[in-house]
Amino acid sequence: MSEPVDLVALHERAQSRRVVVVGGGVGGLVAALELAKIGVRVTVLEAADRLGGAVRSGEVAGLALDLGAESYATRGGHVRALIEDLGIADLVVRPGTGAGGAWVAGVPGVGAAPLPKGGLLGIPGNPFGEDVRRVIGWSGAWRAYLDRVKPVLTIGHEQSLGRLVESRLGKRVLERLVAPVTSGVYSSSPERIDVDAAAPGLNAAVTRNGSLLGAVLQLTEERRSAPGGAVEGLRGGMGRLVAALAARLEELGAEIVTGAEVVSLEDGEVRVEGGDAYPADAVVVAVEEGPARRLLAPRGSLAPEPPVAGPVVEVVTLVVDAPALDAKPRGTGVLTVPGSHTAKALTHVTAKWEWVAEAVPAGAHVVRVSFGTADEAPATEGLDERGAAVLALAEASRMLGVDLDPSQLLGQRRERFRQSQPGSVIGHADAVADARRRIREIPNTGATGAWLAGTGLAQVVPDAIAEAARIRHELLFADPAG
Ligand SMILES: Cc1cc2nc3c(=O)[nH]c(=O)nc-3n(C[C@H](O)[C@H](O)[C@H](O)COP(=O)(O)OP(=O)(O)OC[C@H]3O[C@@H](n4cnc5c(N)ncnc54)[C@H](O)[C@@H]3O)c2cc1C
Repeated sequence: MSEPVDLVALHERAQSRRVVVVGGGVGGLVAALELAKIGVRVTVLEAADRLGGAVRSGEVAGLALDLGAESYATRGGHVRALIEDLGIADLVVRPGTGAGGAWVAGVPGVGAAPLPKGGLLGIPGNPFGEDVRRVIGWSGAWRAYLDRVKPVLTIGHEQSLGRLVESRLGKRVLERLVAPVTSGVYSSSPERIDVDAAAPGLNAAVTRNGSLLGAVLQLTEERRSAPGGAVEGLRGGMGRLVAALAARLEELGAEIVTGAEVVSLEDGEVRVEGGDAYPADAVVVAVEEGPARRLLAPRGSLAPEPPVAGPVVEVVTLVVDAPALDAKPRGTGVLTVPGSHTAKALTHVTAKWEWVAEAVPAGAHVVRVSFGTADEAPATEGLDERGAAVLALAEASRMLGVDLDPSQLLGQRRERFRQSQPGSVIGHADAVADARRRIREIPNTGATGAWLAGTGLAQVVPDAIAEAARIRHELLFADPAG
């Protein structure tokens, strides 16, 4: 018969344990919260002078804006549950619908056109749809239609999204519809995207339906009837989530130290630049892949360098006095055909988020221009702040189809990010499984964050919760003598 659990002893044990969480991005803060909730003594060490990591808020032209992540996917319900738990559900907002969707720019012979609705990663279900034909033309539509008559067995199981789309639907669908989406969303070309990771079920649906077009129609239909699939944001910006996490941690007695770059993990303590050491019965490493590997490698068998470095992305946020943008000429934003612009994407923030539109003076607008993919360094790299703003403004002019002059600039800010390798890149799932296995061999050590969980808060939050639960269990139930 198993022994009864002594709850008082468990609680006392939790209170006697110290955990250091390395990294104060959302992953680190959520892991810290999961541990602090049960009474564990938690310290969060963050290298930067502010918390949040890729969720970065800041002031531009007197407005408090998101400079990094600006929303979360509702898929899975994990981020929403966290927001509710933190008591800030009243801040949840949905993107405005009045502006229409996103556009695609740089289409040869066409320029800019609305991104067709209802597809999957840009792959249309019906190539003759008016909105699809506008982008790929009649010849592109007929070429895509060949998919319906091609024998399905010629593809079998295709791993590369790019190869699947090109072989079934042709170059125009690939270059004009799918590449803008993968470049904008995953910072990667379609060739490097793993179909099974980016569009689970698509390969099987191709086999079932006998065509890629049929498969996309079936999956988009299923998604329409399933809950989720949308994004939400927070009034005041996603920075509110970081502030609420920090406030809750402080209420629970956790210690948060910024400006503390961790340089080594040793047995029983964590060292920061400058020499301070923090005692730790366990550690959760919640930093980007490069620093995570450098910290964890000396403790076990993990390689100290990432197999592939993630893309560097620069986001230039511009506040412009431009009443011409009141008409929301390109909906909520623009993706570009790779090679046609130096920028990969633009978000018309004041068209997308009502709370931002309400905050700006009449005629003023906020646009965010993003540069840099896995295949191309950001064109703004090496430019000074003003130079980056002028380039971003010129790109915004072309993408929005509205002349914007530097004299209209009310404020600008450039932020640089090293993104983790998107989870849907070919080979990434195996690399992550291998890394997790090696990390689990290190006693009392956990790791979380976008490089393991996949990019996006909808992935980062549940992964941090699960990893904190694993460490909690190890701390409370491992035999101290063993
Ligand atoms: C421009 C951009 C836009 C995005 N937009 C969205 C979006 O709209 N929706 C969405 O869901 N996701 C979005 N994402 C992705 C999402 O923001 C990230 O996946 C998520 O925030 C990553 O959280 P994290 O905790 O894993 O890592 P990070 O946020 O990268 O945090 C890691 C932290 O560790 C710190 N650190 C590093 N080294 C050390 C060290 N040695 N010692 C101590 N601290 C250290 C860093 O300073 C950083 O604060 C976006 C990402 C970017 C870059």
